Amino acid sequence: MITNKFLSCDWLEHGIIFDHENIIRVCCSQCNEGGGRPVLRGQFYGKDLDWHRIFEQKREMRKVQRTGEVYHQCKGCILLHEDEWDDEDYINRLLLTHWINCNCKCIYCPAISDEYLKQHNKHYNIVPVLEDMCNQGILKKNAYISIAGGESTIYPEFEDMLHLLLDYGCDNILVNSSGIKYSPAIAKGLKEGKLQLTVSIDAGTKNTYEKIKLVPTYEKVSENLSMYAAAQETDKDRVCSKFIIVPGVNDNEEEIENWLINTHQSGIKHASIDIDLRWVQKNLNSLKDHRRLYELILFTQKTADRESLYLRYDERASIMRKIYNVNTAVFGGTIQKIKD
Ligand code: SF4
Ligand code: SF4
Repeated sequence: MITNKFLSCDWLEHGIIFDHENIIRVCCSQCNEGGGRPVLRGQFYGKDLDWHRIFEQKREMRKVQRTGEVYHQCKGCILLHEDEWDDEDYINRLLLTHWINCNCKCIYCPAISDEYLKQHNKHYNIVPVLEDMCNQGILKKNAYISIAGGESTIYPEFEDMLHLLLDYGCDNILVNSSGIKYSPAIAKGLKEGKLQLTVSIDAGTKNTYEKIKLVPTYEKVSENLSMYAAAQETDKDRVCSKFIIVPGVNDNEEEIENWLINTHQSGIKHASIDIDLRWVQKNLNSLKDHRRLYELILFTQKTADRESLYLRYDERASIMRKIYNVNTAVFGGTIQKIKD
């Protein structure tokens, strides 16, 4: 294996994304001046995927990095970094986000209200594609695999898909789920220590949950979270309960404290905090005027410590910390630009 040191990123070198517009892309990052999200193939409906052609296109893009230039769509991307990169063709980063339907209706969800997307997304079964990747050895067993959505568990092929990946030996799978439908395959992945699960419950009470999710499933999600927590054997921090602060709805200490107490009591060790994307985008240039949200994040950390929970700061919570000069890495591609 030949390796060279230059500027590139894991997605550009060995990543692929199946997105909800029936497009196959290199990444989902769109926070850079080059625009990101290079396209490998449009109009993909689950059939006739020519891997030779996919890798040929990726090699054209990767070649630019090897000359010391930056591929035009990658210009300014925060994920570019200097490292040793090889010249092989394989996938070790995979994002499956071609699902758009969901069993809840979060008031902050951009997909739920995207009529264009709903009309233009044509669902397909990803299992044959993954089988082909496994059979050809294209997918590395230690690949980072992220399953987002929509809600993937409600699709009939979900269980087969996850069993296929787990049985193939994949051990770095991340599933984002509403938590409403219990998945035996997710429980199996947790038990085997090969999967991480994030469920954004966003509330410490049924009443607030229903205001955000618009479905009466608080008890069901709480019950499923306890079952998933109990499924963990060796690694006890693989289930993460998340809270997205929605200003005006759940932005108070009592709600956050109840959520963290419930999280601890259900056997979960891992929590994460974030802020409603729509609100952050609307207030992008005046985040400094909203110290109250920063204080809620501080309160969350203090209470998580008290409840012996590890707290992760997700993208917008990290941005808020950064505004208040707390140095936190900002990940993700949803925020176009933060102005000073
Ligand atoms: S836009 Fe960024 S994340 Fe996407 S391939 Fe380019 S460098 Fe990587
Ligand atoms: S669970 Fe996710 S996909 Fe479903 S409505 Fe909420 S944010 Fe949207």
